[in-house]
Amino acid sequence: QGQRRRLVVGNWKMNGTREDNTRLLQGILGGWTALESVDVAICPAFVHIPQVAESLKGSQLHWGGQSTNPHEAGAYTGEVSAAMLADLGCRYVIIGHNERRRLRGETDDYVAEQFLAVQRAGLVPILCVGETIEQRESGQALATIGAQLDVVRNAAGLEAFEHAVVAYEPIWAVGTGKTATPDEAEQVHAYIREQFGELGRQLTILYGGSVKSHNAAELFQLQDIDGALLGGASLEANEFLAICRHAE
Ligand code: PEP
Repeated sequence: QGQRRRLVVGNWKMNGTREDNTRLLQGILGGWTALESVDVAICPAFVHIPQVAESLKGSQLHWGGQSTNPHEAGAYTGEVSAAMLADLGCRYVIIGHNERRRLRGETDDYVAEQFLAVQRAGLVPILCVGETIEQRESGQALATIGAQLDVVRNAAGLEAFEHAVVAYEPIWAVGTGKTATPDEAEQVHAYIREQFGELGRQLTILYGGSVKSHNAAELFQLQDIDGALLGGASLEANEFLAICRHAE
């Protein structure tokens, strides 16, 4: 894996009260042991970012948003801009998560606009790509992922990926308890890396989809897997900590 640092990102999705968050953050910070080669971030709901920021400031952990509106500012009721996330000290913004593609109709073009907006704000986009079970079973997994990456790369340029993270999340593995086998995951990660030529060697590529403490070590051993994007496992302090340590 050369000089690539590891990265573990917790996506809390639409979960938690401030009280729940306090407990979870105390559990994480209470059990934290310094990690040398791993960056760790938590992405709570927008309304909880100030609470998480306050709790994590001065720690080794970073925080981020789960999405963003691509516009700088203006008449976009209910939306949050990347500049607002930057103002709250975020480092990362997840974009193109399959739940938003599916539930909010976010297209590849829209995701490309978000990617640009996140970088304009000085933050690091975590671009999620992945195939459905039908696409996998019909042999279209790699072509699907290649097309999702192409749209963003054509809009932003190859060099933009020097300051970006890609997360491979097979849709059939997110929140389902099913994980891609190490072979399946490694094949896709190697393919993603190839799409970026020379630059691919330094690109951080995360795996996401039912990663837990019991399967993380096996995934992190693979040559092209640089860390994980976690849903369910990020809501339990001990699970989250164990996965972060496996990444070290
Ligand atoms: C996710 O939502 O990004 C995710 C990977 O979820 P889970 O870990 O729960 O499958």
